[in-house]
Amino acid sequence: MKTKSKIIIAGPCAAESREQVINCALALKKQGIKIMRASLWKPRTQPGFEGIGTKGISWLAEITMLGITVATEILLPEQLTQLIKGINKNGDLSKVLLWIGSRNQNHLIQRGIAKIIKEKMPKTVKLLVKNQAWADERHWLGIVDHIVGSGISPKRLILCHRGFASSGQNNPNNFRNLPDFEMAMRVKEKSGLPMLIDPSHIGGTVGNVFKVMNMAEKFDFDGMMIEVHPKPIEAQSDAKQQLTFKELKSLLKII
Ligand code: PEP
Ligand code: MN
Repeated sequence: MKTKSKIIIAGPCAAESREQVINCALALKKQGIKIMRASLWKPRTQPGFEGIGTKGISWLAEITMLGITVATEILLPEQLTQLIKGINKNGDLSKVLLWIGSRNQNHLIQRGIAKIIKEKMPKTVKLLVKNQAWADERHWLGIVDHIVGSGISPKRLILCHRGFASSGQNNPNNFRNLPDFEMAMRVKEKSGLPMLIDPSHIGGTVGNVFKVMNMAEKFDFDGMMIEVHPKPIEAQSDAKQQLTFKELKSLLKII
């Protein structure tokens, strides 16, 4: 992937403690990674750990002061309003990246989030948009149109392929979600937007994350969003797919 010229976003599935996110930020900084993911609010298949919530906003603010851009998922416009308030208090709002996840398919919410970014955040702040969970190219392109309808500049948008839900058939690698690299490349071309790959939510296991990145090699992705955790087995969500920092280092060497 020639990682030097690509957008690399790495970090835990979810922010769990101040110590965890700060350790993560320092470890990533050592590897030259400039954007760290850490979700405060988690969409979950079944009720369980739904993220640390507003308590974690000040931790993310601290990370922005380490010179790292912090990326986090927003489920509702009011969460973004809270985040902006908290980061403004003791962080750097220009060092934030937001994303809309694959389960968030209400276009009123999508536009509401984009509108706040446009009106309340520095122009450098980007919005990453993941594909919806089911394989439908028109819907994927439609998300972009809905969001652009908020008035946000398309220059502030980045797309990300995280695979599509599988019914269990035609899944020889036992991936968590099935990738459609060709569709991702068509959506990249038609939308004119950068397209990242999320091997973590496609693969579902550490071994599969490596496999996905090998398969993605011949496609023109503009970077990746990947999950890493200081102690993956202790992670409160997506434990099986999070890499250690050492595993991330070896992955970055081979792609
Ligand atoms: C995530 O990135 O942690 C996440 C919830 O992913 P997705 O929206 O792709 O399911
Ligand atoms: Mn996750």
